[in-house]
Amino acid sequence: MPTRATKFTLRDNQIPTAWFNVVPSMPNPPSPPLHPGTKQPIGPADLAPLFPMALIEQEVSTAEWIDIPGKVLDVYRMYRPTPLVRAKRLEKALKTPARIYYKYEGGSPAGSHKPNTAIAQAYYNKAEKTKRLSTETGAGQWGSALAMSAAFFGLECKVYMVKASYHQKPGRRVMMETWGAKVVASPSTDTEAGRMILADSPDSPGSLGIAISEAVEDAATREDTKYSLGSVLNHVLLHQTVIGLEAKLQMEKAKDFPDVVIGCVGGGSNFSGLAFPFVPDVTKGGKQIKFVAAEPTACPTLTEGKFEYDFGDTAELTPLVEMYTLGHRFVPPPIHAGGLRYHGDAPALCRLVQDGIIEAVAYPQTKVFESAVQFARAEGIIPAPESAHAVRAAIDEALACKETKESKAILFGLSGHGLLDLQAYEQFLSGDLIDA
Ligand SMILES: *Cc1c(COP(=O)(O)O)cnc(C)c1O
Repeated sequence: MPTRATKFTLRDNQIPTAWFNVVPSMPNPPSPPLHPGTKQPIGPADLAPLFPMALIEQEVSTAEWIDIPGKVLDVYRMYRPTPLVRAKRLEKALKTPARIYYKYEGGSPAGSHKPNTAIAQAYYNKAEKTKRLSTETGAGQWGSALAMSAAFFGLECKVYMVKASYHQKPGRRVMMETWGAKVVASPSTDTEAGRMILADSPDSPGSLGIAISEAVEDAATREDTKYSLGSVLNHVLLHQTVIGLEAKLQMEKAKDFPDVVIGCVGGGSNFSGLAFPFVPDVTKGGKQIKFVAAEPTACPTLTEGKFEYDFGDTAELTPLVEMYTLGHRFVPPPIHAGGLRYHGDAPALCRLVQDGIIEAVAYPQTKVFESAVQFARAEGIIPAPESAHAVRAAIDEALACKETKESKAILFGLSGHGLLDLQAYEQFLSGDLIDA
């Protein structure tokens, strides 16, 4: 008998032409953001110094679908649709009756899901005559996605990179510079916020909260500059729904539907992008899906944070948003999953966790790397340390199916590859990785 291929990859030529807004499908919509000074709900005018009007409109939109502009689709077509892969070899290695699927975003030029929103944000800024973008980056994934997108649309780009990652991941800095961005280690001496933190703690490893303060100040104090955020905000989650919309279609083509949907959570954008298009199936369609948001124990926002209004940044420049938070002064230990070190999470995601639609789990990094290596040996792809949190949760779900002899369909987001994180793998393989 001829040997048959046991692994299949679905590639659909179609990509979504509209983004999906989850708000109309939520039992309770997120509470409005509040002005940092007056503590009153903010209006579009408060955000105008930081964002182009098109993105502000998307931020507060209650429409269910928002058209994707043609020029954004043209760039999406460079790497979308992304593959949905049945992880047959992993299933076999685990001896699980579960069907495991992963949606792989690591094939974008920047190596993660982040270009899905970076491209859209660069496009809308260009359309409204912005000359320069400022942003923060943790591990460098967001900075590199925005640097690339800024280059596509002819914008300058200044990146405040969390100091711990700036030194841990020089490769990402070089990527950003190759695409034409200017990169400084944060806290930096380029802003008032940075100088204040350095005066207080000259050895600060930085944090996303600090870097956001710097990037926001940069944009707020310059006429030619707007600010870009890579996660947390509604418009970012909206742009990321191309992941879940494609996955839904691809699952349908595979004649399957997920019982479990899993993603890793830093600010919540890749998880929400995958999960939100499935939310109406639960809240309106009567289906049962277990949604699992996986985060690090070193930054346990959803599992141990408080659900309350908090600032998005350390220097209290951003609006107050209702979310799970560890407090805006929280500086997490420098774990390898730099992209998961944010003190808060997206308000829409937090609301759905609060309402019991989405569950959260937290893992220490040694457990995460154990699963990442197991996944790499079965499926080939070396996951980003962030994505490996989702891998861990998927493997745990599959092992639970083995106990209960249930054949569930498990869909998880593999948000990026780890080829620029090999130092972390080296530490794990040599037994030097510790749980912070
Ligand atoms: C940035 C990043 C994350 C975390 O950000 P979210 O907004 O929670 O998605 C996860 N995985 C990868 C590969 C990243 O680059």
